[in-house]
Amino acid sequence: MRNSHISFEFFPPQTHEGVEKLTNARRQLAALNPEFFSVTFGAGGSTRDRTLETVTQIKAEGFEAAPHLSCVGSTRENIRAILNTYRDAGIRRIVALRGDLPSGMATAGEFQYANELVEFIRNETGEHFHLEVAAYPEIHPQARSARDDLLNFKRKIDAGANSAITQYFYNADSYFHFVDECQKLGITSPIVPGIMPIVRYSQLARFSDTCGAEIPRWMRKTMEGYGDDNESIQAFGRELVVKLCEKLLKGGAPGLHFYTLNQALPCIAIYQQLGLSK
Ligand code: FAD
Repeated sequence: MRNSHISFEFFPPQTHEGVEKLTNARRQLAALNPEFFSVTFGAGGSTRDRTLETVTQIKAEGFEAAPHLSCVGSTRENIRAILNTYRDAGIRRIVALRGDLPSGMATAGEFQYANELVEFIRNETGEHFHLEVAAYPEIHPQARSARDDLLNFKRKIDAGANSAITQYFYNADSYFHFVDECQKLGITSPIVPGIMPIVRYSQLARFSDTCGAEIPRWMRKTMEGYGDDNESIQAFGRELVVKLCEKLLKGGAPGLHFYTLNQALPCIAIYQQLGLSK
């Protein structure tokens, strides 16, 4: 039986070694019976073939695969072709995103925001795909205000998205507040928290600076204090993320989406401590 609303995200590997590593990680995570595995997509189409290859492998292993699809820098014709390929490959779920233009890429293409992509997919393919969209409990970095961002999130739901996955965060209150605000606007679709296990502090700090996810000061200071002692950082991070997940699930979160960075063990450790594998 699949664990409903438990999912794992991968990026498409670039090398043969990376493919083998991901295949192993996937095998280990498959034992946890997730609802689906998702695979990221480089904005501008840079990973188009590798994303397709990875989702095709996942499907062949008997699991639901959800490719991410970002529209920035793309044309309708491009997106239509990708949708047809996914439909032909038996894909039923897509994570629909705007994406961020890679530096040096001048044109925004024919889509400006993710709500336009959701609308386009619905017009082209009806209800064939279950559409996930991104949500930002700590506010998207380019949003003019929290209210604007919330209303922009609602546009994606109104355009036909079925559910959402959040950017990662370490402050559960931001998630509960966001869900409350959505409910006030009549949004009842599941909003699944995105969970980032803590594996390497430097990497996490870099990601967080660019995507607008906050690492609270006390967490930064504690992890900085561990210096090169990665084992202590991981133990600290594991305990913290387990507590976060417990709080989220107890508070009514409909599930968890793990950003795996193609590594199984950190997610498995969290999963086991949560008692989800029973
Ligand atoms: P949008 O929902 O379009 O929002 C982008 C910004 O524009 C926000 O500030 C919003 O408030 C504003 N906005 C939205 N609609 C409007 C409107 N109609 N008018 C005016 N302003 C508007 N990136 C990748 O490149 N590949 C991936 O595979 C990928 N996967 C992701 C998965 C998840 C779960 C998450 C949370 C993010 C992912 N990202 C990925 C990152 C994402 O592409 C970036 O965060 C990007 O900056 C925004 O994408 P979006 O779909 O949220 O955009």
